[in-house]
Amino acid sequence: MSIDKSKVVILGGGTGGVIVANLLGRKAKKQADVTLVSKQDNVFYEADLPYRIFDRKSFKSQYKSVRKVVNNNVSILKEEVVGLDVDNKSVSFKGGSSIPYDYLVISTGAHYDYDAVPGFKEGAYHYYNEEGIHELRKALDEFVEQGKGGNIVIGIADLPFKCPVAPLEGVFMTEHFLRRKKLRKTTNLHYLSPIGGAFSIEQANVHIEKKFAKKGINLHTFFNTETIHTDRKVVESLEGDELEYDLLIMVPPHRGQPFLHGTPIVDSEGWVNVNTKTLQNEDYPNVFALGDAANLPVSKAGSSAHYQAMAAAHNLIDILKGKMDISQVKERYNGHATCLVMTSLTSAMFFDFNYNRPPFGLGYISNRLFYYIKKYQRFLYFYGFLSGRM
Ligand SMILES: Cc1cc2nc3c(=O)[nH]c(=O)nc-3n(C[C@H](O)[C@H](O)[C@H](O)COP(=O)(O)OP(=O)(O)OC[C@H]3O[C@@H](n4cnc5c(N)ncnc54)[C@H](O)[C@@H]3O)c2cc1C
Repeated sequence: MSIDKSKVVILGGGTGGVIVANLLGRKAKKQADVTLVSKQDNVFYEADLPYRIFDRKSFKSQYKSVRKVVNNNVSILKEEVVGLDVDNKSVSFKGGSSIPYDYLVISTGAHYDYDAVPGFKEGAYHYYNEEGIHELRKALDEFVEQGKGGNIVIGIADLPFKCPVAPLEGVFMTEHFLRRKKLRKTTNLHYLSPIGGAFSIEQANVHIEKKFAKKGINLHTFFNTETIHTDRKVVESLEGDELEYDLLIMVPPHRGQPFLHGTPIVDSEGWVNVNTKTLQNEDYPNVFALGDAANLPVSKAGSSAHYQAMAAAHNLIDILKGKMDISQVKERYNGHATCLVMTSLTSAMFFDFNYNRPPFGLGYISNRLFYYIKKYQRFLYFYGFLSGRM
């Protein structure tokens, strides 16, 4: 590292971290030494996970080496972060070493805290990572082999969670899958939502709930999961409601990464506090956070991480080039997020919204074209979005 350059450290080699790294590596290489820290060798494309429950394909196509997708001007450190000292501007690693920084970007995603809901580990299946899907595939096979149907309950253990449409996709695809297996008539499908509707944006929720009604999916609103009683196969809500299940599929409880807890920049669950439009921490202005790790009033999703990364990176580039003072960063993020929502195994809708605008009307039309875009979107992700050029 040269002494006259600023040291920029980016934590997390996923969607947001890689985009920031690429933009800084290309546009601020003369002003900054950029280091990307990630505990994994690969970027993992999560949006295909719900589909993997049903198509049974391998997960290989969802991985791409971090080194291959990151600009060569960026140094990559394969380390697990275990400590952050924002007062002394230092990040420490599992092996005992540490790294100083002038500017820090946190994009370490979300951590699944399975213990946060009693009974989750023993009673619930999920599709929020590869391991979860292997287990769920077996449970679904058993359900089908028994051939008698029953109660499938799909829900959300806790708020917030990433990709608010993923549980909707799970229930719509399961419904289609059951029809294919001739088990739909004998299976009750229940959807547990902790909020007042199936989806948080009212204009979109109307369309989602119409689909629920058409497909005969039972919606339980304001169902905040308190305990899963595995002995009775019952899921109980904070409000005292109980629902029996034969197969329970739940989004796991999400929290900020363990190393963030107790630092002065996070809320009680470990999400990094940042200004909603600048993505800068207001007490430590040299710290930016984005993606799932940030405490923002917008969906935790790859698309929002993408737009946030662009906004944070361009602010940093301007600071590094001396075009802007750190106390005057621009409000570059407007809450933009997009989601292709699977509405069966062969159709999808498209939501595009921001802090001030609900999704466009055309996106509510569920069709085959959106499904094909979703199916092949990972190419755009690996070869387009991650570069920070689009
Ligand atoms: C089932 C499912 C379906 C989804 N579908 C969609 C979709 O259709 N559309 C969409 O836009 N989004 C979707 N998402 C969400 C999307 O994948 C994430 O929101 C997005 O990847 C967030 O990017 P990020 O940079 O914040 O975090 P991530 O991409 O999760 O990256 C975090 C990185 O930080 C690393 N890290 C974490 N802790 C440490 C540590 N202590 N030390 C070092 N490195 C660390 C991780 O290894 C990882 O590389 C889905 C997610 C799931 C689970």
